[in-house]
Amino acid sequence: MDNFNLKNLIRSNIQKLEPYVSARDEFVSDGSPMIFLDANENPFESGVNRYPDPVQRRLKTQLASLKGVQVGKMLLGNGSDEILDLILRAFCEPKEDNIIILPPTYGMYKVLAEVNHLVAREVLLTSGFQPDAQRILEAVGPMTKIIFLCSPNNPTGNTFDPEIIHFLIKSFRGLVVIDEAYIDFAETESWTNYLDSYDNLVVIQTLSKAFGMAGIRLGICMASGEIIEVLAKIKPPYNVNELSQKCALERIGNEAAMRNEVSHILEERRRLENRLPEIGFVESIFPSNANFVLVKVDDASKRYAQLLEKGIVVRNRSSQPLCENTLRLTVGTKEENMKLIETLKSLQ
Ligand SMILES: *Cc1c(COP(=O)(O)O)cnc(C)c1O
Repeated sequence: MDNFNLKNLIRSNIQKLEPYVSARDEFVSDGSPMIFLDANENPFESGVNRYPDPVQRRLKTQLASLKGVQVGKMLLGNGSDEILDLILRAFCEPKEDNIIILPPTYGMYKVLAEVNHLVAREVLLTSGFQPDAQRILEAVGPMTKIIFLCSPNNPTGNTFDPEIIHFLIKSFRGLVVIDEAYIDFAETESWTNYLDSYDNLVVIQTLSKAFGMAGIRLGICMASGEIIEVLAKIKPPYNVNELSQKCALERIGNEAAMRNEVSHILEERRRLENRLPEIGFVESIFPSNANFVLVKVDDASKRYAQLLEKGIVVRNRSSQPLCENTLRLTVGTKEENMKLIETLKSLQ
């Protein structure tokens, strides 16, 4: 792509910013025994009395090899939500710039845009839930800094056509952020494979879904070293706490366990997809590449309330455009899914 210059995208105050230097940035331990009197910590060992590594060296090294991405192209956040917010704060001038989002999609893009006083221009997906490249490029103005894509998309569950995404990345001179929260459930390759081809590509993943660690809050941002440096400048120094780093290291070390759970979840998704057509009021089941299934029913509010009554909580997505009378069903354990089907069948 011609004419892409990251410098033109960075907010001027962020370009000038002198980042905070923490005690743990200034002195980097090589593991040899030292007396630490630099960070005003409590010296009595409790397992958490020391500040965590601000750049998460060990964890990033493991994640880098797992993802096949260099450490220098990776930044970790307190969930991907923190990363999305960092990206907006680094590259979008409040009250001036805008971003493009493609509803129906993940709600945080719009909320975070509003928090940062930015307009989110909305370009609906097509009826097949694909990005409408022509209309997206028409919506781009001189102050459009970022296009957010979610693939596989939440709540529709489908993966976007790679040809359309390649076209958008090549045609747009701002950043294209691809949220891959559900990539481990999809057969399609990750866009991290194209980080070396595109300077304006940012890929976000999370340990909240396939890795089963929503509780520790760990998101992964992967992009060019230049983009990562800008984000690293503004991230809170200790944004990933010690317990999260430890917990993630342990679990990532056992990738086989994660793969095993993912294959169970996929098998269970197929069970739901096979059984849901038996329910009279289920009108359609949208194809999914994620760990949930979006279904169209006769009356989503009614069915939602009935399920709740029976102790089953699903998500009513009817307020989203193109999603009238839809429920989003997360794939649970075999027992949970059988209970769901049984309950749906019993509803009047
Ligand atoms: C669940 C989800 C996330 C995860 O966010 P975390 O803050 O990492 O838990 C991100 N994007 C989408 C589209 C999601 O559905």
